[in-house]
Amino acid sequence: MSRDDAARAYSGRVTAAPVPSLVAFDLDDTLAPSKSPLPDAVADLLLELLRRVQVCVISGGQYGQFRTQVLDRLEARGLTPELAERLHLMPTCGTTYYRWAGHGFDQVYAHTLTAAERDAALAALETEAMRLGLWETETWGPVLEDRGTQITFSALGQAAPVEAKTAWDPTGERKAALRDAVAPLLPDLEVRSGGSTSIDVTRKGVDKAYGMTELASLAGVALDDMLFVGDRLDEGGNDRPVLDLGVRCHAVEGWEDTADYLTGLLPTLPEPTLPEPTLPEPTLPAVTPSAPA
Ligand SMILES: [Mg+2]
Repeated sequence: MSRDDAARAYSGRVTAAPVPSLVAFDLDDTLAPSKSPLPDAVADLLLELLRRVQVCVISGGQYGQFRTQVLDRLEARGLTPELAERLHLMPTCGTTYYRWAGHGFDQVYAHTLTAAERDAALAALETEAMRLGLWETETWGPVLEDRGTQITFSALGQAAPVEAKTAWDPTGERKAALRDAVAPLLPDLEVRSGGSTSIDVTRKGVDKAYGMTELASLAGVALDDMLFVGDRLDEGGNDRPVLDLGVRCHAVEGWEDTADYLTGLLPTLPEPTLPEPTLPEPTLPAVTPSAPA
């Protein structure tokens, strides 16, 4: 949808609310379809947002997904170093943190699990998924993934198509059953339902609320001055800890909804303090000098 269409579709949900100095977003199903690159409309709106305030993206995904889903798209739409300086990246629920470092994005910290914690989490997820009949044999890539800071169970594999993932657990019952079975086996770890087919295990107390609290000190922005946008603010959802933390939240259903919301939010924010993004020069075909006749 074009920005004008988005503006027309927008139905005036932003009322007089405190003006945030930082807006944080979930990634999958908030800024982009699950595991997919940001649509151009969302990338352009984020760049407009960066001209005005600081922006954070926090997700269960790894940095590699931030690179392909977010950064590649923002760069293609004209991300400048000045705008990049206002961007905070929190992969794996904020257990890792990346900032612009002049030449690219550098890792500022990573809170990894111990080898014993990772082994216990992998074993509990596999055993309980098999016991509950949730261990699928036809998958798209590995079901269990050791991300260092997080162990992730993806019922159909990391690369499963969106339709298959949506059909696997439409009511969320299967994920909830697995989470409830695994959590008591890992009392020192946090067990949480992640995306549509996934369960994430992290160090206890390390979830998106942890990341947002870290962000408050790292960015020097009080939680009261932040706004969080996510698609899973429901009870048990992976965005819920941010709401429970007391951060002002806005619930969305997919990136189109987010684009509509941002289109309405932008005019309520401070005037831009940075220049517009500059679209990169199109790559011209190499000119081969013609040989003298
Ligand atoms: Mg999400």
